[in-house]
Amino acid sequence: MNIKRILFIILAVAIVVGVVFAIVNVKKQDTLVSSNDHLTEKLKVVSSNFASYDFLRAIIGETENVELTFLLGPGKDAHSYDPTASDLIKIQNADLFVYVGGEMEGWADRVIESLDNKDIAMVCIADYVETMEEQEVDGAEEEEEEEEEGAFDEHIWTSPENAVKMVNALEESMERLDQGNREKYRENADKYIAQVKEVDSKIQNIVDNKVRNRLLFGDKMPMQYFMDYYGLEVSAAFSGCSTETEPSAQTIAYLIGKAKEENIPVILYIELSSGKVAKVIADEVGNGCCAMQIQTLHNVSLDDFNRGETWVSLMNRNLDVLRAALQ
Ligand SMILES: [Zn+2]
Repeated sequence: MNIKRILFIILAVAIVVGVVFAIVNVKKQDTLVSSNDHLTEKLKVVSSNFASYDFLRAIIGETENVELTFLLGPGKDAHSYDPTASDLIKIQNADLFVYVGGEMEGWADRVIESLDNKDIAMVCIADYVETMEEQEVDGAEEEEEEEEEGAFDEHIWTSPENAVKMVNALEESMERLDQGNREKYRENADKYIAQVKEVDSKIQNIVDNKVRNRLLFGDKMPMQYFMDYYGLEVSAAFSGCSTETEPSAQTIAYLIGKAKEENIPVILYIELSSGKVAKVIADEVGNGCCAMQIQTLHNVSLDDFNRGETWVSLMNRNLDVLRAALQ
């Protein structure tokens, strides 16, 4: 036997052993998961992103037979998320799986295609609102990568109008899943919608009394639905959510010029961002200009999550920021 032949046999054996091992492991995992299923009869609801998770949490309320999972988890960037093996098992075992889709959650389609469990109710929450294409934002860096054909702006949750549509769609999904608690779900959803509408009218009041119409982000700007809803103009270092974090000197200079020209008193940065660029711009503008954090509800920080902050409470936190920026 020559060396090549020996190596070939060793390799072939290794592959066979590997495959057998993998099959045994998958089987093991299957039995583990299904034996867990016997222990608990809770309905399992899994949401990929924060807004849907928060709305579902409000709708489910005190209902004890539902277990809700926030797949992304607090403090993480939705754009760089990829489900782990344990996340895949959570989706596989879900009764209801809610996701946003689009380029941000390109993984969702692949996961759904690969699922064995065909009884999972799937809700692509973007199907329940009017989506729009990602807009070019004034001042923003050119994106290096080409947008996919037909790609939509995924940050649908930033307008209160969409938030209400999302709550209604998720409430209907919960009713279908759990008829027995349908009245409770409707009641909880209506209470939450009332809170959304209350913060909406407070923001509208600030917008009605504005002295300028432009918000300036020294950061990413994932709030186009919000801007369109309130009829606000916006300048930003990046349109939507770029993977870049450092804008060019030219972009920064443009934003400084814009802020000086329009007497903009607040340079915004978003949650989970250092605000470094916004602070640089604010310092350069001077004249009392300051950097402030706006909540885009893209995700919550771990601290805010542990404090039980919600879409409504975080949007309420924006009132002072918007007042300072627009009035
Ligand atoms: Zn984003």
